[in-house]
Amino acid sequence: MRSIETCREDFPALHQTVAGGRPLVYLDSAATAQKPRSVIEAEARFYERDNANVHRGVHTLAVRATEAYERARRAVARFIGATDPACVVFVRGTTEAINLVARSYAQPRLGPDDEIVLTPMEHHSNMVPWQMVAQATGARLRYVDLLPDGTLDLASYERLLESGRVRVVAVTHQSNVLGTINPVREMAERAHRVGAVVVVDAAQSVPHQPVDVRQLGCDFLAFSGHKMMGPTGIGVLWGRRELLESMPPLFGGGEMIREVGLFESTYNEVPYKFEAGTPPIAQAVGLGAAVEYLESLGMEQVRAHEQRLVAYALERLGQMPDVRIYGPRQHRGGVVSFNVEGVHPHDVATILDQEGVAVRAGHHCAQPLMRWLDVPATVRASFYVYNTPEDVDALVRALEAVRAIFGAGAKPR
Ligand code: PLP
Repeated sequence: MRSIETCREDFPALHQTVAGGRPLVYLDSAATAQKPRSVIEAEARFYERDNANVHRGVHTLAVRATEAYERARRAVARFIGATDPACVVFVRGTTEAINLVARSYAQPRLGPDDEIVLTPMEHHSNMVPWQMVAQATGARLRYVDLLPDGTLDLASYERLLESGRVRVVAVTHQSNVLGTINPVREMAERAHRVGAVVVVDAAQSVPHQPVDVRQLGCDFLAFSGHKMMGPTGIGVLWGRRELLESMPPLFGGGEMIREVGLFESTYNEVPYKFEAGTPPIAQAVGLGAAVEYLESLGMEQVRAHEQRLVAYALERLGQMPDVRIYGPRQHRGGVVSFNVEGVHPHDVATILDQEGVAVRAGHHCAQPLMRWLDVPATVRASFYVYNTPEDVDALVRALEAVRAIFGAGAKPR
């Protein structure tokens, strides 16, 4: 077991100074995580030794590349409790995974009498694809209400399900803005009672807490490699085998076929029928290394570490009278969104950057949620295994600099 206390050493990008010599404090892991050396080296090693295209060659390197790619698939399956690696489809990321389900599973099945249930806290990538499906099919989008603390109003969810028309429930496991962890298991149970399938956006949960698809009981799970210390350009759609088998491929081309004729073709089995063309091979290898790294830390420990950090961050930020924090105080993930009264979030983020603290400001691809919060944007600090309480202290010190420049509690400009 690797220790979280010392794992910071494993991340080369964290050991640098920015902004004229200040040590980098990276609080933007919800956007993308830093990579441990083992991931960087796994990808480099693949290019140095094994680089070849997969599934197409009999030469030594092609066999090695194919084995490395499929080993990564098995590692991902193990990581999310999937018993069948064939149900792990490699895609570019969460966005592509959800679009694949929306286009290939939902669109051919839905019509004007059907409903898709979403929540207002979805990232655009779990909202816009469903809007597109609704526009193409006439299906109706319905939204679960939010309670004032930024959790889901499950009574309103129950009422939506009573229509008898709900065919799809698409919900984020963990909000990238509020940190809310949604009761996906209960929601899936209820959705299944009315015959709906459940699509879970796990972009912010798979990297940060133990996720087991058997326990969650969902039908599809989407997540991105780059948010869990893996490379960019690789992500995962896990789906129940019978559902994946029932779906037509979204892209046609090499790899995804069994037999090609001049006028029609037959398709490969899952997952290959969804992986047209040369896949992101080195990226898959890097993702496999990221999975091994996270396993060596232990996902329970990862979650516990982030819980401690978030509790500390909420306590420290909560002591600043002009800082308004969004989202629930309990049972939440490792992101803290806030605003400093009277200061635009982009100004806050710019000054924090000058202090060496990297946070994100903006709508976080959740514009409907911003409207619900009644703000144009928020500042978001997000934590991962390599962050420490000292990073929270650095954030608070940098926020003092914001106050010094703008004046505490200044009126909105
Ligand atoms: N869903 C959530 C909750 C996210 O936080 C993100 C990324 O910020 C996405 C989906 C989209 O992920 P990607 O851009 O890797 O496809």
